Amino acid sequence: MAVPDLPAPRTVRRGNNLDDVRRNNLAVVLNLAHVRGRLSRADVTRATGLNRSTVAGLVAELVELGLVEEQEPGTTHHAGRPSPIIVPREDVVAIAINPEVDAVTIGLVSLSGRVLKRIRYDTARVPTPEEVINIVAAVVAGMRGELDSSFRTVGVGVAVPGLVREIDGEVVAAPHLDWHGVPFSAMLSAALKLPVTTANDASTGLMAESTFGAGRGGRNHIYLNGGASGIGGGIAIDGHPLLGTSGFAGEFGHGLVNSNGLTCHCGRQGCLETEVRQAPLLAALDLSGNEVEKLDSTLLAQFSRPGGPEPKILELVHQQVGYLSESLCSIVNIFNPELIILGGFLGTLYATEPERMEEIVKAKAMTGPDADVRIVRAVLGLDLLLVGAAQLAFASVLADPASIAEPEALIS
Ligand SMILES: [Zn+2]
Repeated sequence: MAVPDLPAPRTVRRGNNLDDVRRNNLAVVLNLAHVRGRLSRADVTRATGLNRSTVAGLVAELVELGLVEEQEPGTTHHAGRPSPIIVPREDVVAIAINPEVDAVTIGLVSLSGRVLKRIRYDTARVPTPEEVINIVAAVVAGMRGELDSSFRTVGVGVAVPGLVREIDGEVVAAPHLDWHGVPFSAMLSAALKLPVTTANDASTGLMAESTFGAGRGGRNHIYLNGGASGIGGGIAIDGHPLLGTSGFAGEFGHGLVNSNGLTCHCGRQGCLETEVRQAPLLAALDLSGNEVEKLDSTLLAQFSRPGGPEPKILELVHQQVGYLSESLCSIVNIFNPELIILGGFLGTLYATEPERMEEIVKAKAMTGPDADVRIVRAVLGLDLLLVGAAQLAFASVLADPASIAEPEALIS
């Protein structure tokens, strides 16, 4: 399974096959530690209903497997002996990769979802798959000594701005990268000698925000991300990623918002992605393509000026917010989500005048679903896609922690 379910309270198992039961319950405890970051043995007992000695045994096994560590509890107001604190080990890591039109970002992410290292390698032009693999291989080779001595690398996750086939991580089409039919997981795995999982960038963003960010604990989310490569989306319904037949679902960027709009590379006219774009916003603010990290602060500074933004900027933002809101209304009507999470420059557009976008959606979406939905910004910022890509790599160890002890699970 390439894209795991959102974190949910897994249910403990009781039964006769002791190995199955134990492995499942190890996963339950590790997932709790992974999502919460730190919790006490007493918290695990409360969350799972398992008795104290069973929990102690499971935690001891996770410690033995090198996945969590126990720390001395701090002072507590409760009576009795305080319960030891369980935390995921920071030296269990995944390598996270995000190729984009102008850069390749490589991260080292710990099992607690913390980005320990982020390396952005700017490229002079849109990188080919081979160039991305060469860049990643060189960066990983540079870190090899440190990786071998200080970390345990479980695998590699890749977030790609394009359609990715779930079963084998083939990039079927990434139009902005001009990649077509690229077996990226297999190619990178051969180069790094590590297991590689590749998925769509917005699906991984959804997973990251649902696990560690704005969507924490929720079950029905839509995530929309806007970047240099256009607009992608991810859908979670009742905690399950909605992938479609081959994993291509969630292309909200290609929904019609303007019947007089520009022609899109997909063949239609007036798609969300042709009408709501980052490049004109950067240009209006006199920012270049590689100053995208300044877009948020520069645009929001315009809106907090006395007298408001320059008229041409206000007009552009109102136009884009209008089209984006059209798309959100359709999403609300179709999916009845509890949360729409906006990432990248879509989050910036929302933050300029949040009430305005909320009012348009309330006014135009159907009565009923309009009352259920909240619109929020993604909160993980620059960490988002790296954390999401890392989740892909952690999926197998989170599903079966004991598998980390089995070297045949890794490619040698
Ligand atoms: Zn289109």
